[in-house]
Amino acid sequence: MTGMRLGVRAMSLGGKDDNLVRRYGWFKCSDCGRGWESAYAWVYQENEIAVYGQECKSCPGKYVKPYKVDKLRCPICGATAGGCSCKRRDKKVHRSDLCEKCMSGKYCTLVGNEK
Ligand SMILES: [Zn+2]
Ligand SMILES: [Zn+2]
Ligand SMILES: [Zn+2]
Repeated sequence: MTGMRLGVRAMSLGGKDDNLVRRYGWFKCSDCGRGWESAYAWVYQENEIAVYGQECKSCPGKYVKPYKVDKLRCPICGATAGGCSCKRRDKKVHRSDLCEKCMSGKYCTLVGNEK
C-alpha cells in the first residue's frame, strides 16, 4: 500500500496552510540591511512562528522571514482586523513575485482567513 502512504504525506503538506493566520510583518535582510513591511506575513496560529519569507528586492534569491509580526490593524482607527467599520482599502499592492507563499502557488490574496 505504498500509494496510500504517499497520499497521507500529500495531505499533511496540503494541510499546512490551514493553520496559518495572516499578520502584519516587519522584515530585515541580514545581507544588505534593507528593511520592509508587509501585510502578508503568514504565521502558525498556535505559536506565531513565521512560515513563509519574502525575497529581498536587493538580494535576488534571499528569502527573509519577518523578525516581528503583529495583528493586522486598520490604518484609519488602529483597530485589529474586523474590529471596526472603516472602509479599508489597501493602497499597497502585494508583491507576489517576492512572496514565498505566492510563489509556491498558494496566493496570499486568495486566502481569506484574517484572524
Ligand atoms: Zn538584501
Ligand atoms: Zn478602522
Ligand atoms: Zn503572497
